Formats: sequence, structure tokens, C-alpha cells
Amino acid sequence: MKPLEQLVRPNIWSLAPYSSARDEYSGHEAHVFLDANESPYNTPMNRYPDPLQRELKELMASVKGIPANYTFLGNGSDEAIDLLYRCFCRPGVDNVVAIEPTYGMYRVCADINDVDYRPVLLDEHFQMQADKLLAACDDKTKLVWICSPNNPTGNDMNREEVLKVISKFQGIVVVDEAYSDFSRQRPLRFELPQHPNLVVLNTMSKAWASAAIRLGMAFASPDIIGLFNKVKYPYNINQLTQQQAMTALQARFDVEAWVQLILRERVQMMDAFRQLPICKEVFPSDANFFLTRVTDAQAIYNYLVEQGIIVRNRHRVQLCQNCLRITVGTRNENTELLSALRKFEV
Ligand SMILES: *Cc1c(COP(=O)(O)O)cnc(C)c1O
Repeated sequence: MKPLEQLVRPNIWSLAPYSSARDEYSGHEAHVFLDANESPYNTPMNRYPDPLQRELKELMASVKGIPANYTFLGNGSDEAIDLLYRCFCRPGVDNVVAIEPTYGMYRVCADINDVDYRPVLLDEHFQMQADKLLAACDDKTKLVWICSPNNPTGNDMNREEVLKVISKFQGIVVVDEAYSDFSRQRPLRFELPQHPNLVVLNTMSKAWASAAIRLGMAFASPDIIGLFNKVKYPYNINQLTQQQAMTALQARFDVEAWVQLILRERVQMMDAFRQLPICKEVFPSDANFFLTRVTDAQAIYNYLVEQGIIVRNRHRVQLCQNCLRITVGTRNENTELLSALRKFEV
């Protein structure tokens, strides 16, 4: 890895961050707060939330097995994705490399930040080759994006290939593990101490069943976390979200049970799909969804919409011609989808 100072945008490296009223006193027991122009009424919602979410991060650390100083919390993973561009990529100058197909936000954020986005096609098994990704990099490549299990394909990336990119690439490797709770692979976040150029993304939106509260995590070296903290909005995680996230993390055994239910239901759904006349192929999944190739994705998608059933049409995505992405729902929802598909006239 290049020294961090050479990777970070010069204006970000030298940035003096905003200092909030609550940042400036520390260590003392205080009980009169007349520093932030808050209202004295309507407690507790009158107070600004903790800008660094210390209590939530301590709980997150114990659940995720990653120290709090390796943790950034954002308004969804989307905030962390955007911050990576804003910290590392000079608009109009730098570029990033990503597996293709993958999660669409990496490209949208590149476009917003005027950063050249270089997709590298997966093979016919939706697997990545480290050498192909590395060959697409040059001295202006700041980030490599990998998603595992990958969206929309559903499969884990080959661990050896991911580790090869991390050890050979001189910049930052981002591995989005939004779906790792559903996979048998050991989460890559546990490898962080050995890899100072690794950033791992997690989210409360999938296995943790809390998409509404908008909470995403980035795990990385304290130096990288320090950059994110400098650039983020001071109060990026509101108090309601911090509270609700603590409630969810304290109920972690519910989450483990939900994951097991979803995995069992996924096996049954995939088996049932293979029996459908409209189904040509069901691709392997390590996530809470699967990709399937059907006879006519657009027609089937439209038909389902008319029945009030929404799946994700991936027909226009590279390597995904005539593919639908199916999220595993409750038993009843899955049954309703299957019986609608059995009635579809080819
Ligand atoms: C759903 C998803 C996320 C979650 O994004 P949030 O902003 O945290 O809701 C992140 N990455 C991938 C690949 C996803 O599919």
C-alpha cells in the first residue's frame, strides 16, 4: 500500500474539520449545557446527538467483533460509499475499478463525484479474477470495489482472489459485505488488522432487518476512520436511529433466528423455481436473494407487477440477460410468488 498521505486528496489531508460545541469540552462531568443554542425544553429530543456515536459503537464492537476505533457509522452504507470517493478521489483526475455486474451505487457515486469508473466483467460463473482487476488499475486508481456476496448475482467472491487484490493493489480495496450474515464464508472484516488498505462495508438494512433506520458501517484502520470522521456531517446519525440500532443489536438472537429461517426458505424457493416451466437456470446464492434466468424477464416482470408482486428485473444488466433477482420473503410471500408464476402463460 502507498502511504495514506499519497492516496488521500490533498485538500482532505489538510482539512481542519468543523469543531462542534460538544467536541470542545471533554473529560469533565457537565450538567449545564448552554453551549449549542439548543432549546431547554422537549427533553431528550432537544439535545444534539453524540457526533461520534460512542455508546452505539461500543455495542456494535461487541456484536461485530471489531474494535470501536475501527468503526465508522453512516446514514446507510451509501454514506460510506460516497465518503470513500470524497476522501480519496480527485474529481476529473482519479479513477476506480470495480467488478461488473455489481451494486449500482458505486457507479452512481463515481458519476456524482466526476470520477472515472472502470468496470471489469466477471466470468460466466460470476467469479472475479484478481489479475484482471489489477490489470485495469493504473497510478491514478484509488479504489477497487468488490462486493461479496455480490449483488445482483448472489454469490461469494473467491476468497483467494479477493485476498490477492488486497495484497497486491497499492490503493484502497473496498469489500462490501452487506450480505455476509447469510454466507458461510468467514467475514473479511476479521482480516482487517493484517490489511491496512482494506475497508469492509456492513449494513443494518439486510440481515438486521432495519433498512428504515438508515445505518451502515465501514470497518477500517483507525487512520482511515479518522478521515471519514473529518469529512462526514457532524451529526450524521440522528438520535432516533442510534437508539433503535442499540435496541436491534441487543436483540441479536432474533437476527440469528431470522437468518436461519431465510436460509431454509431460500433452499425451498430455489428448488421450486427449478421446477417452473418459465425457469431456465437458478444461480447459486450465498445471500438472502437469488438470481434466476427465465424465458422472458420483461414479460414475467410485467405480469407479476399486475398481480401486485414486485421482483427486480436485471435483464439490462451485463451477464444478466433475462434474469430476475428474487428476494426471499416470508413463507406466505414466497408461496404467492410461486403460485403466480405457475399460472403464467408462456
Ligand atoms: C442493500 C445493499 C447495501 C445497503 O445499503 P444501505 O445504504 O446500508 O441500506 C449495501 N451494499 C449492497 C451491495 C447492497 O445490496
